[in-house]
Amino acid sequence: PDQNNDAYVRFDGVQKSYDGETLVVKNLNLDIEAGEFLTMLGPSGSGKTTCLMMLAGFETATHGEIFLDGKPINHVAPHKRDIGMVFQNYALFPHMTVIENLMFPLKVRKMANAEARGQAEKVLDMVGLAGFGERRPAQLSGGQQQRVAVARALVFEPKLVLMDEPLGALDKQLREQMQYEIKHIHDSLGVTVVYVTHDQSEALTMSDRIAVFNDGVIQQLATPDELYEAPSSTFVAQFIGENN
Ligand code: ATP
Repeated sequence: PDQNNDAYVRFDGVQKSYDGETLVVKNLNLDIEAGEFLTMLGPSGSGKTTCLMMLAGFETATHGEIFLDGKPINHVAPHKRDIGMVFQNYALFPHMTVIENLMFPLKVRKMANAEARGQAEKVLDMVGLAGFGERRPAQLSGGQQQRVAVARALVFEPKLVLMDEPLGALDKQLREQMQYEIKHIHDSLGVTVVYVTHDQSEALTMSDRIAVFNDGVIQQLATPDELYEAPSSTFVAQFIGENN
C-alpha cells in the first residue's frame, strides 16, 4: 500500500548485522527519488556507511532487499550497478596521470581510447581542472585530488553517485567551496546523490532531504527546513542544534 513506484532507490526492510547478533541497521525503509540529493546524517557508528556500502554492493543486507530503478540488487555485483562513488580517502591511482585516472572507469566499460579521453577531458573541465590532466595525483593539492575523485565518479555518467564524507579531509574554506561545487554539479546533471556526513551544517546546506540516523534507525526523514522547524525527537533537536 505504501509502495512508491517512482522511487529510484528503495531500502525495503533492510537489516544488517556483521556478527550475526547485533543489528547495526535495523529494519530500514527508505525511498529516494530520481534526481534527489539525499543525505544520511548522524553520529559516528549510527549505520550510515553500512547503508552506503550495501547500496554500493560491498556489503550484503542480512534481511530485506534494496531496489535500484525498480530492480532488486542484493545479488548484483558492485561493478554491474553503474554507481559512481566518492570517499574521504580519494584513492586515485598514484601511478596514473589525472587523465588516465579518469579514463580508467571508461576503459573498464570498454569505451574506445579517443572517446574515453574526450569524455575524461569534459568532466575534468567541469570540476575546474582543465589543464591538470598530465599531472599525477601527488602533484595536486588535497582539494584538487578530491575534485578529480568527484570527476572520476561522474565520468561514466552514472545515474546514482554515492559520497561518504567526501570533504572530511579538507579545511573549512575549501569544504564550503566544494559543497557549493558538488551541489552545482548535482543540479546541472540531475544525477541522484546519496551523501553521508556527520556534519549538520553540510547536510542542511546541500540536501533536498535528510535522513537523520541514530543507532541503526532513521529517526527523522525531512527537508532541511522541516528538520529545523519541527524536529521529531529530542535526539534530532539536539543533534541538529549542535555546532550550528
Ligand atoms: P562513521 O561516521 O563513524 O563512519 P557510521 O554512521 O557510518 O559511522 P557505520 O560505519 O555504518 O556507522 O558503523 C555502524 C556500526 O557497525 C558500528 O558499530 C561499527 O563498528 C560497525 N561496523 C562497521 N563496519 C563493520 C565491519 N566491516 N565489521 C564489523 N563491524 C562493522
